[in-house]
Amino acid sequence: SEAILDVKNLTVAYEGGGRSSRALNDISFRIERGKVLGIVGESGSGKSTAAMAVLGLLPGGAKPSGQVLFKGQDIYAKSPEERRALRGREISIVFQDPFTSLNPSIQVGRQIAEPLILHKGMEEKAALQEAENLLREVGITDPARTAKAYPHQLSGGMKQRALIATALACDPELMILDEPTTALDVTIEAQILDLLEALRVKRNLSMMFISHNLGVIARLADEVCVLYAGDVVEYGPKETVLGPGHRHPYTKGLLASLPKLTDRRDRLFPIPGRLPDLSQTIPGCIFEARCPFACKGCGQPQPLQAVGADHVSRCWRSLELADVPWRADDAE
Ligand code: ATP
Ligand code: MG
Repeated sequence: SEAILDVKNLTVAYEGGGRSSRALNDISFRIERGKVLGIVGESGSGKSTAAMAVLGLLPGGAKPSGQVLFKGQDIYAKSPEERRALRGREISIVFQDPFTSLNPSIQVGRQIAEPLILHKGMEEKAALQEAENLLREVGITDPARTAKAYPHQLSGGMKQRALIATALACDPELMILDEPTTALDVTIEAQILDLLEALRVKRNLSMMFISHNLGVIARLADEVCVLYAGDVVEYGPKETVLGPGHRHPYTKGLLASLPKLTDRRDRLFPIPGRLPDLSQTIPGCIFEARCPFACKGCGQPQPLQAVGADHVSRCWRSLELADVPWRADDAE
């Protein structure tokens, strides 16, 4: 079926202090219309860089290598103005932090109305009315009152709903959500995830949903892409990647470190060790240093290998280790 977003061989390096540091290393993924791709990986793995590259918003206007095809068209072949129009109308983004993403000195309704005035040429009055409709759609019970409020008068959950309303204003086809619930407490997080699921069905939205939290990814995604140190290490259907069919040792480690429902540890990754220094070349498998299963053959670079239908893993031992449980104690 049709890909709304097709990202091919995306590579991004950040230059600074006389060094070049790889943030994304030849990653490819695609999102079909109406589907949600979950992108998961620990802090520094390149998730936000991927979002920014898709939006054409890399720092300094940098252009990544590779291709970002939105509905078959390379967004980097377009002019900056065309890209800006695309971002306003057809692709929208919701960031992590509702506390800083809203302008504190502008009434919420006006902020939601702004893209309608800017990109759709709506009259102010009609746009403000539409802003109230959007607030109602995202579950705000008193839209007229909320529209007149300033961001500091709203709770974190309401602010995130207002941001989602802004992102929906121009009726986008693709929504990029970068850790949209990370700043919220669990109950509110669950409400926002329910809202996103409902909106996705109602509007047939496609989503690129970024989170470090596998539990959150499991709620919404159809497919899951696991990033590690700027590389895709596993990619496939959610039921496979987050279920017993997962194959890469890093995914194993992430799943083993999922907090139980009873203890609320949020940013915890008990996989020992940390990401490698991305300014250095790594000769073999990028996960070798932290992998409890590493052995001699892991000194070779690991290509992505097909391990099932629409399922790839960057580990030569994928199949052999299929039923071997993760044991963090074994890691160096
Ligand atoms: P987090 O979960 O913390 O948001 P992330 O997966 O979104 O992490 P990125 O923010 O994409 O990761 O960062 C990937 C790598 O690129 C990191 O090593 C980071 O330090 C580096 N990086 C990100 N932005 C910049 C920048 N503007 N300049 C230089 N290096 C950057
Ligand atoms: Mg990020």
